[in-house]
Amino acid sequence: MTSKEVRQSFLDFFAEKGHRIVPSNPVIPHGDPTLLFTNAGMNQFKDVFLGTGKRDYTRVADTQKCIRVSGKHNDLEEVGVDTFHHTFFEMLGNWSFGDYYKKEAIAWAWELLTEVWKLDKNRLHATVYKTDDEAYELWKQFLPESRIHRFDEKDNFWEMGESGPCGPCSEIHYDRTSDLSGGKLVNSGSPDVIEIWNLVFIQFNRKINGTLEELSSKHVDTGMGFERICAVINKKVSNYDTDVFTPLLNKIEKLSGHKYSKELNNPNGIAMRVIADHIRTLSFAIADGAFPGNEGRGYVLRRILRRASRFARNLGFKEPMLYLLLDTLIEIMGDVFPELITQKNIIKKVIKAEEDSFLQTLDRGLEIFDNISNRLKNENAKIISGADAFQLYDTFGFPLDLTELIARENNLVVDTKEFENLMNQQKERSRSSRKIQAQEAVLPNVEFKSEFLGYDYFSTESKVLWFEGNQIILDKTPFYVESGGQISDIGTITLEGYIYNVIDIRKSGDAIIHFCDSEIDTATGAVALAEVDSSRRRSIMRNHSATHLLHEALRTILGNHLQQAGSAVHPDYLRFDFNHFEKVSESDLKKIEAIVNEKIFENIDVQTKVLSLEEAGKNGNIKMFFGDKYGDIVRVVIMDDKYSMELCGGTHVKNTSEIGIFKIISESSIAAGVRRIEACTGSSVLNFIDNLNLKIDELQQNSESVLEKVKHLEKEISHFKILELKQQYSDWVAKSDELDGIKIIAKEITIDDIDNLRTIGENLRDFMGSKGIALIASIINEKIQMVCVVTDDLKSKLPAGKIVGEAAKQLGGGGGGKSHLATAGGKDIEKLPALISGFSDIIKRLSV
Ligand code: ATP
Ligand code: MG
Repeated sequence: MTSKEVRQSFLDFFAEKGHRIVPSNPVIPHGDPTLLFTNAGMNQFKDVFLGTGKRDYTRVADTQKCIRVSGKHNDLEEVGVDTFHHTFFEMLGNWSFGDYYKKEAIAWAWELLTEVWKLDKNRLHATVYKTDDEAYELWKQFLPESRIHRFDEKDNFWEMGESGPCGPCSEIHYDRTSDLSGGKLVNSGSPDVIEIWNLVFIQFNRKINGTLEELSSKHVDTGMGFERICAVINKKVSNYDTDVFTPLLNKIEKLSGHKYSKELNNPNGIAMRVIADHIRTLSFAIADGAFPGNEGRGYVLRRILRRASRFARNLGFKEPMLYLLLDTLIEIMGDVFPELITQKNIIKKVIKAEEDSFLQTLDRGLEIFDNISNRLKNENAKIISGADAFQLYDTFGFPLDLTELIARENNLVVDTKEFENLMNQQKERSRSSRKIQAQEAVLPNVEFKSEFLGYDYFSTESKVLWFEGNQIILDKTPFYVESGGQISDIGTITLEGYIYNVIDIRKSGDAIIHFCDSEIDTATGAVALAEVDSSRRRSIMRNHSATHLLHEALRTILGNHLQQAGSAVHPDYLRFDFNHFEKVSESDLKKIEAIVNEKIFENIDVQTKVLSLEEAGKNGNIKMFFGDKYGDIVRVVIMDDKYSMELCGGTHVKNTSEIGIFKIISESSIAAGVRRIEACTGSSVLNFIDNLNLKIDELQQNSESVLEKVKHLEKEISHFKILELKQQYSDWVAKSDELDGIKIIAKEITIDDIDNLRTIGENLRDFMGSKGIALIASIINEKIQMVCVVTDDLKSKLPAGKIVGEAAKQLGGGGGGKSHLATAGGKDIEKLPALISGFSDIIKRLSV
């Protein structure tokens, strides 16, 4: 029977028994951040068992693509050295949601195995949970008691997690021994008796307190290893001897010139099995939207690929070869899983690029390994130090499991503990590379809780909970602690009139620890004023919000396969890393930049919502990152619920217009398949333009078009500048002089155009509304230009024209205008500061 016939006959069998046949879910569980990879057929029905989801059918069957290389189910080390564990496999399954139960599930499994597939009845064994007499009795119809075995929780009680739906299970095992003596080998891990099918009876709900509660409706959840059943039906001892794998092995034979060996400990045999296995995992994962990378799921794939690549080297390959197997894989599986065909080009490109980059360091790394192993042999030692393993990792890209694998082949072991330490140290180093004096927190044994108010406030009046040396914990704080790529705030804490600079900030449990630039002298309970550097923080907020807009714009232009691979949000720039297999073209970058700016100019209100993780997971439009660990309660940042929604704990502008302007600075590659965009917003764009100007000077490049571009940008910048100044008006008013209830503002600003100066005057006048007089001056073309504005209630008594005339006199100039707004010029630039500080005196004189 071919594997295609086996798969089809399974589905047909259950279709005939009233089951709906549904497609496999992707192997990347989009929408379930608790899982890196789909690892069982039941994953897509989890919500039904939890009672949070419903289907319009009660019987269903499918073949589900599964990957088991991480977390609770990790079979990586078995692959290649045994014959029946794969990193990628298909799980055939049938389910009942409150419909049929044990009786039918067992009878149908028996019918399919023995009547449709005609397996030798004498080779089948069943296991049941130790107290499940019901299942035991049912099996007795088909099997002698000598082949029904009771096992305890470890083998025969299935639970999804700490709490939730669960129940006893019953497994079917197949005995391959020649004399049918396999009874004692059931559940022993022996290749002679293997588990082929697991029938789970979901009967209970495990409550939080650990007790079991009987469910009102009972379910069936089964899973059968497709590759295993293909082998068993065709009387093969190894899954690799079935047509699921033989075309791949043949292709590897052809490419390498080596013969495949079925011997379990033959090195070429192992290498070929591992390669044939891993190409499936890589191809399906990439087809479903994952990419090799440095963290989380991406790193799992990178490890798999590097492992395969190193086995290919053992077979003599010096050039990338894995990608050459894809066409064969498509021949075997393309008709059942057409995503392999539609994603073929991406899969090939990504795998080849990743192989290419690893091959650049592989040889050198293997040489280093040989040196290490020779040295150990001379010393009669067996342990590779963590430092050596770390060097292989850091310099030559050897994942730890690869080093361990090569070590095992050489009868050596790796000091993984030291490796982990070095790894953590490196992480710590990169985290604190920028930080000064940030010593380890010396927290006391008491648990403190600081409330973070930085979403809404830049400063808080707080109470001292604890302090020691230069560290202090407050009950409330506006200081943001680095996370999600957004860097920590800096600022000050004022205590008893003394100002401490906050130079670093960390979290420990629920406490937020501020690290100051000097020893703190205070008392617990004292009142402190905690203030973040608000202009720096505003820039950070602009960049963070712009990062979300950029993420969405990238997906719009480059496609939905695109996933965030990392990000950094700083006051003067933002950085966004993402999975993409080729350079982003200039014209696409332009489009992306334009979309972000469009969204900025659309004045979109930025909203945040707090949801349960479960709720958020159900909304497919909310971006979340699978590598990340989220709590049960998450925060969603929304910029138009039809545009961008992202799980994010960072701080954001209240309206996209505050971002001002967005400019992409560079696009580059940081690793195979990973691109990086750097960009800036707001006033940082000014610096960018300045640098651009400098470069132009340097190159003496008078190209018209460049200058025009700069002019155009400068225009955009002034537009932004005006917006940015707007945000300071309240500050100006708060700090203004007051005369009989009239607010008097005098300010020098930098702006390069008289029209813009006038606009600012008008805006400020509107902002003050009543009881306000302001004089705004700027040096434009080496002359002072001023605008004076007076609110309507005062303009007849104190007309702006008269005021500005008085002011201009002091600067050796003149001017005038209407009563609400007037302008003037002056040339004595050195006298401007005196005019600004004495402006309220002019008003005093004029009002008597
Ligand atoms: P085993 O003990 O053999 O690892 P399991 O108990 O982990 O199996 P289940 O989680 O019950 O298996 O999965 C259901 C079925 O999927 C198993 O009966 C088996 O046939 C198949 N299966 C499980 N893991 C693998 C794997 N790594 N490769 C191929 N098939 C597998
Ligand atoms: Mg297992």
